[in-house]
Amino acid sequence: MLRTSLLWASENPFLAERLPRYRFVRKATKRFMPGETFDAAIGEALVLQEKGITTTTTLLGEHLNGLHEADDVVAHYQEDLRRIGELGLDMEISVKPTQIGMDFGVDEARDRLAQLADSTDALVWVDMEASEYVDRTLEMFRSVKEEKGNVGLCIQSYLRRVEKDLEALMPLDPAIRIVKGAYNEPDSIAFPSKDDVDRSFVELTRTLLRARKNGAQGRVVLGTHDPRMIEEATRIAFELGLDKDHYEFAMLFGIQRDEQERLAQEGHQIRVLISYGSAWFPWYMRRLAERPANLWFVAKQLVG
Ligand SMILES: Cc1cc2nc3c(=O)[nH]c(=O)nc-3n(C[C@H](O)[C@H](O)[C@H](O)COP(=O)(O)OP(=O)(O)OC[C@H]3O[C@@H](n4cnc5c(N)ncnc54)[C@H](O)[C@@H]3O)c2cc1C
Repeated sequence: MLRTSLLWASENPFLAERLPRYRFVRKATKRFMPGETFDAAIGEALVLQEKGITTTTTLLGEHLNGLHEADDVVAHYQEDLRRIGELGLDMEISVKPTQIGMDFGVDEARDRLAQLADSTDALVWVDMEASEYVDRTLEMFRSVKEEKGNVGLCIQSYLRRVEKDLEALMPLDPAIRIVKGAYNEPDSIAFPSKDDVDRSFVELTRTLLRARKNGAQGRVVLGTHDPRMIEEATRIAFELGLDKDHYEFAMLFGIQRDEQERLAQEGHQIRVLISYGSAWFPWYMRRLAERPANLWFVAKQLVG
């Protein structure tokens, strides 16, 4: 119930406009994002790199008012990539399809993703958004992957269709980040029960790790804070005889920090996704929906 309300709030333009004006709301975001600027993201990335933790960064922002805004987003990321290169940081970028023009057509978003892939030798990750975008995102990804190679895709284990989607992608030897999924989807589209979402996550992990065992090169990234998923993935990899460099874990900045450090200390590859930007409201509401206990943290800002 609380999760549904928070996800509803994440899509409400009125709240997105009003709530960030309050200081306590802005202060409460500190837990999950270092700040609104790329400099703030870089500052934390340098601290994490010292601990053996690499990073991904994302500029927050989703739907656009026109394609000129998508061009601004591309230019912004290109400047980020330039600075990442200058600093010698192991930091990748992850972009939302709607942020690079998907609402204006697949070709529009495709061209902009291709421009980003051309701007770096590193992988450019594509986030997966709400289910209405999945077909278009797959089409865009497939096209840029075939042409440029250096793109990776996020898939969501809560989707009933995900296993078939992954099967169709496998001939591309794709780099895949598996996550559970963060949007409000109807039961007909996404599994309503956590057990099914978790089971699907483990099955997708198994499929990708088996492919690695059989020689696939595509990176396998497990984007989760769930200790059970981490344990299962580690167990499957061990059973298949795969080294720690055959798979990676990824978590969000500020969540399970101790676990992030523990994994790094144990020699696992762990990448932390650092978000920044001023359009953080819908993203922040989705983080609260994942763990309504975090509302206590927001409440504390009211009195602290
Ligand atoms: C690197 C990365 C990239 C992502 N990209 C996408 C994307 O492109 N599209 C998309 O739909 N979703 C994305 N997500 C979000 C994802 O779908 C989940 O909503 C989110 O990761 C929570 O699921 P979980 O696997 O961590 O486990 P859950 O089952 O939600 O939680 C398991 C445990 O993890 C801890 N935990 C989880 N979330 C929180 C939190 N917010 N605060 C504190 N503790 C928490 C708690 O201990 C909880 O009991 C991404 C997540 C990560 C880590």
